Amino acid sequence: MTRVLFASSEAYPFIKTGGLADVSFALPRELRGYGVDARVIIPKYMDISEEFKNKMRFVKSFNVQVGWRNQYCGVFEMDYEGVPFYFIDNEYYFKRGGVYGFYDEAERFAFFSRAVLEFIGNMDFKPEIIHCNDWQTAMVSPLLKSQYAFNMEMSGIKTVFTIHNLKYQGIYGPEVLGDLFGLGYEHMNPSGLEFYGDANFIKGGLNYTDAITTVSDTYAMEIQDPYYGERLDGVLRDKSSNLHGILNGIDYKIYDPSTDTNIVRNYDADSASEGKTTNKLELMDMLNLNRGSDVPLIGMVSRLTDQKGLDLLERIMQDLMKNTNASMVILGTGEQRYENSFRHFESMYPGRLSVNLKFDNKLAHMIYASCDMFLMPSKFEPCGLSQLISLRYGTLPIVRETGGLRDTVTSYNKYTGEGNGFSFSNYNAHEMLYTIERAVELYRDKKTWDSIVKTAMKEDFSWKKSALMYKSLYNKVLNNSL
Ligand code: ADP
Repeated sequence: MTRVLFASSEAYPFIKTGGLADVSFALPRELRGYGVDARVIIPKYMDISEEFKNKMRFVKSFNVQVGWRNQYCGVFEMDYEGVPFYFIDNEYYFKRGGVYGFYDEAERFAFFSRAVLEFIGNMDFKPEIIHCNDWQTAMVSPLLKSQYAFNMEMSGIKTVFTIHNLKYQGIYGPEVLGDLFGLGYEHMNPSGLEFYGDANFIKGGLNYTDAITTVSDTYAMEIQDPYYGERLDGVLRDKSSNLHGILNGIDYKIYDPSTDTNIVRNYDADSASEGKTTNKLELMDMLNLNRGSDVPLIGMVSRLTDQKGLDLLERIMQDLMKNTNASMVILGTGEQRYENSFRHFESMYPGRLSVNLKFDNKLAHMIYASCDMFLMPSKFEPCGLSQLISLRYGTLPIVRETGGLRDTVTSYNKYTGEGNGFSFSNYNAHEMLYTIERAVELYRDKKTWDSIVKTAMKEDFSWKKSALMYKSLYNKVLNNSL
C-alpha cells in the first residue's frame, strides 16, 4: 500500500478559504478507496471549531527549528470519514483569527513545512511520498532534498508538488533562506529559489520536487505562457515534460442535490425543474428578492478578487439589469473595492440583486441549488470547483474559456444540441454580457433549458478518474519511470 502524506494549509471540514480545502479532503479519501494510505497534515488553526478540537487526540510534541529559533510543535490526530488527519499545533503561529495574511506569513509556513518533515522523523507513519500543495508547503521539497539527504530514514522520500494557484508564490527577501530555513546562499541561484533577487517558495517547490502537477490540462498549458505564467513560465516550460494536468473532482457525497441537507427541497435530474423552482422561491424570499418562478436567477459564489472577473461584472451590471429580467445573488468576501461596488449596486436594484458579503457554506449550497445560471467569468482559473458544483446541481455555468473552466464547460450549441452551459473566449465585459443575454433568452425555452440541465447533471466530475491518475503518478514517481 503506497503511503502518502498530503501536506496542505487548509482542509475541509476543518478550515476552508477556497478550493484547496475541498481537494485536501476529497482526494485523500478517494485515494484510500484505491489502496493508497493517504493521510493529511494541516496546521491546527484557532478557527477550527471547538467541536472538532474536542475530538482531536494529542499524540506527542517535539521541537522544530525555524532558523535560529527552537519552537514547540504539538501533533494532534483525528479521523474524519476514514481519513487520518494530523494537526500541527503551535499557538504562537496559529492561535490567531483568520488563516492567511499575517505579517510573518513566511515564518508561519516555514515552521509548518519543517514541522511536516520533523513529524515524519518522530512518528510511526513513514510516507513514501509527501504531496505538497501551493506556496505554503512548497518549501518541504527543498528542505527535504538539501537537509535530510543524509538521514537514512528520510532520504528516499519522494515529493509531488501541486500548483492550485500560481498567482500566490511566497516571495520574500533572500535573507529568509538563512533566517527561516537554515539554507545557504547556494540556493539563491536560478535553478534553486532565486527569483529576480528574492527567494520564491513556489519556485523552490518546482525545482526540487520529483513531479509537478496542476489542476487542469488547459492551466498546465497556459502557465507555460507569459500571460498566465506569473513570471514562472520559463521555469515551467523547462519542466514541461514533468508537468501533469490532473483535473480536480468534487465530492459527490457533499454536493448531492438529492441528499443535501442545506437545501429546502432535494431533487435529482428527473425532478430538477420542480425541485429547483421550490428552492429558488425560498431563496428569493430569504434574500428579499422579488418572487417569480420564471425570473432567471443568476448566482455567484466567489472570492472577491481580480482573478474572478468581477471587474467585467461591474462594467456591465447596469446593462444587465436594464437589458434582461434576470435577478442575481452574489456570495463572497474579498477585496474592499468589490465589496463596496457590489453593495452600491445592491442599493440601486433592490429586489433584483442580493449581495452577501460573508463566508456561508449553507447559503452557498442554497445558491447552487436555487439558481438557474452560475456566473464565473474568471481571468484565469486553474480548475475551479464552483462550476463543477453548479453542473451537479443543474445550474448552468456561464464561464470564460480559461483553465479548468474550458476543460469542463461546453457551450450550448443550438444546432447540435450539445453543451452543458455557456462560454465566451475573450476577457471582455460585452462578450460576457452577450453570453448572459443569450442564456437568459434561451431560459424562456423551457424544454431546451430542461434538456441542458439534464445533460449538466449527468456529467461525472467525481474524484474517481482523477484519483486514479494521481495513484498512477505516485507509482511512476516511486519507480522512477516518469
Ligand atoms: P478558489 O479556490 O479559487 O476560491 P474554486 O471554485 O476552486 O475557487 O473553489 C471555491 C470554493 O469555495 C467552492 O467550494 C465555493 O463554493 C466556496 N466558496 C467561495 N466563496 C465562498 C463563500 N463566501 N461562502 C461559502 N463558500 C464559498
